[in-house]
Amino acid sequence: MKKYDYLVVGSGLFGATFANIAKNNGQSVLVIEKRNHIGGNVYTEKVEGINVHKYGAHIFHTDYKDVWDYVNSFVEFNRYTNSPIAKIGDEVYNMPFNMNTFSKMWNDVFAPEDALRHINEERKEIKGEPKNLEEQAISLVGRTIYEKLIKGYTEKQWNRDCKDLPSFIIKRLPVRLTYDNNYFNDRYQGIPMGGYTLLVEKMLEGIEVQLNTDYLSDKKYFDSLAKTVVYTGPIDEYFDYSLGELEWRSLKFDNKIYFTENFQGNAVVNYTGHEVDYTRTIEHKHFEFVTGNKITIVTYEYPSDYEKGMEKYYTVNDDKNNKLAEKYRELASKEKNVIFGGRLAEYKYYDMDDVIKRAMEEASGLN
Ligand code: FAD
Ligand code: UDP
Repeated sequence: MKKYDYLVVGSGLFGATFANIAKNNGQSVLVIEKRNHIGGNVYTEKVEGINVHKYGAHIFHTDYKDVWDYVNSFVEFNRYTNSPIAKIGDEVYNMPFNMNTFSKMWNDVFAPEDALRHINEERKEIKGEPKNLEEQAISLVGRTIYEKLIKGYTEKQWNRDCKDLPSFIIKRLPVRLTYDNNYFNDRYQGIPMGGYTLLVEKMLEGIEVQLNTDYLSDKKYFDSLAKTVVYTGPIDEYFDYSLGELEWRSLKFDNKIYFTENFQGNAVVNYTGHEVDYTRTIEHKHFEFVTGNKITIVTYEYPSDYEKGMEKYYTVNDDKNNKLAEKYRELASKEKNVIFGGRLAEYKYYDMDDVIKRAMEEASGLN
């Protein structure tokens, strides 16, 4: 007799969603987490009364009503709308690409047709289907914007030439002919009041959780505990890199405390040129509209090549890695009584809502 129905490896959003639904279905669940805290990459830590997004800024946005209702059943979400600004040299532009951006970029732009005149003219250099991120970007917004707001940021983020990157990455960003600075098109958006850690705490209420516990340090033992394993760690690590290592991008965060009420006037500032090495600065208090205190916390985000011991943040979805990931996914599909889910275990560039949706689907067959 196994002690638990499910052993959930990892307490990020995939693990927490699956564990929560399984528990509500009357299943017994143990969650193990190798870090010293729950939440995976959405973990927030309270410093000086401000919830700091420890593993990068996270803005919840979704078109799935069921996912929105689900997360709101645990905590209330505020009305935060992501509207980053982009800084290059001493110029400042609104993101994503919209009429505010275009009218500042070209001083003869007021109406949508003025912007289209410029963009359509610049687009002409791309013939046929865009073959890479550079071509995709130019065909979306033209070369001027590509060179000021995309090229430098993307090269820093991925440490690759834009011609060697897949076009889907840039298709994540909206292009709008309205004066609308909302970074997302989704119907629902906000930040959990009290922080993401509170959200995950509520999801895991009543479930046994063991921190500082690495599943792969004693896989055989942990497998003996449960009928089914839900694995949310990196897929190549699970198979002991038997087919080779998948590539990842990592990040370094430099947190600074400033004794001022308002440092940059916005939660997210993107640095799209090469004059600085960081891609973004995040002023966390603006995610939750904290005002009145003369202290603020700002994180400088530096993209980095992945080296052993670092966190695996972004998948590198080029041909080589996609093919290798596919082979690992084939191996995974043959594993008996193991469910692989989430950004690391599926090697997919998932947003939070997609991860929750996937976990809901996996858990929907439970009885
Ligand atoms: P994770 O959160 O990585 O959780 C996996 C957990 O498994 C971790 O806690 C890990 O420690 C644990 N684990 C791994 N291996 C083992 C093991 N062997 N034993 C025990 N435990 C293990 N999405 C959005 O929707 N909006 C955003 O604004 C946004 N911003 C982002 C910014 C950055 C910088 C990054 C990198 C991602 C961002 N995302 C955003 C995506 C979001 O972070 C992910 O979709 C989501 O957190 C993935 O959840 P997960 O459970 O799959 O993985
Ligand atoms: N990007 C850019 N300029 C910006 C912001 C983003 O060129 O100011 C590009 C960059 O290639 C990045 C991609 O758009 O990798 C997706 O951006 P997003 O903000 O969705 O990245 P994430 O939230 O995943 O870090």
